[in-house]
Amino acid sequence: MELVINNLCKTYPNGVKALDNVSMVIPHGMFGLLGPNGAGKSTLMRTIATLQEADSGTVMLGELDVLKEKQKVRQILGYLPQEFGVYPRVTAYEMLDHIAVLKGIVNTKERKELVLALLNRVNLFQHRKKSISGFSGGMKQRFGIAQSLIGNPQLIIVDEPTAGLDPGERNRFYNLLAEIGENVIVILSTHIVQDVRELCPTMAIIDKGKLLFAGQPDSALETLKGKIWEKTISKEEMEKYQKNFQLISGKLVSGKPLIHVYSEVDPGDGFKKAEADLEDVFFKTINS
Ligand code: ADP
Repeated sequence: MELVINNLCKTYPNGVKALDNVSMVIPHGMFGLLGPNGAGKSTLMRTIATLQEADSGTVMLGELDVLKEKQKVRQILGYLPQEFGVYPRVTAYEMLDHIAVLKGIVNTKERKELVLALLNRVNLFQHRKKSISGFSGGMKQRFGIAQSLIGNPQLIIVDEPTAGLDPGERNRFYNLLAEIGENVIVILSTHIVQDVRELCPTMAIIDKGKLLFAGQPDSALETLKGKIWEKTISKEEMEKYQKNFQLISGKLVSGKPLIHVYSEVDPGDGFKKAEADLEDVFFKTINS
């Protein structure tokens, strides 16, 4: 099954165009939706999750008209929002049990088996009797995944899931998502390039409501091959390089800026050819 988005538009009452004629096809597996803050990712995710209306356009999941048949979509949707809000002072087990009731699993025995299996799957079984309000960021996110999996969803939407996770928690979360993504459509919305690089065979980049790239990370990297050059400079030189070169990214390595510039030919000035990475693709795409 594929999710097919066609000409989706949304302008908020304050005039902000959050989705500007967005069209894309999201295949089976993990799909990365990459964009800076304010790009329109949440608007797109919330529209697909039937939580808000688009002005125009269509979203089809196989034969299902997502924007019209909201109730049917909700039955096969798992949604992990950006902010879960305040967690109640109830245990992980009680909360999952409660959500399962809301999702229509009324048989007590069936529900108990499901809840315990999910807790096991997201590695929270040993914490099942603890209050969620005391969980770490990573544990909360894994709990979020557990609740989104109730009801065997065919479409899972995960909005900015790794913000605030430490590297260990992030890795555990990645592994869990990768496992889930084998059988269903998982859309991972993020501004963190690493999330997409590690997990997603297909991706899209959006900014200011517009789709800027859709395809495989490898084909995006291919377009930059041989055109990325790097150099370590001093902080004071930054402005000069910004003015004279097409600077696409810079990071500090041992306290000194290592900059990447885009150039079709050798820019000289001591620059060395660098391997393009997804970060280059991202910044080159949104700054072009
Ligand atoms: P992202 O998830 O990529 O950060 P959003 O979809 O949250 O982007 O926001 C896209 C744009 O729409 C931003 O400029 C944001 O300020 C604006 N926006 C989002 N929600 C609303 C709203 N309810 N009312 C007005 N503007 C909004």
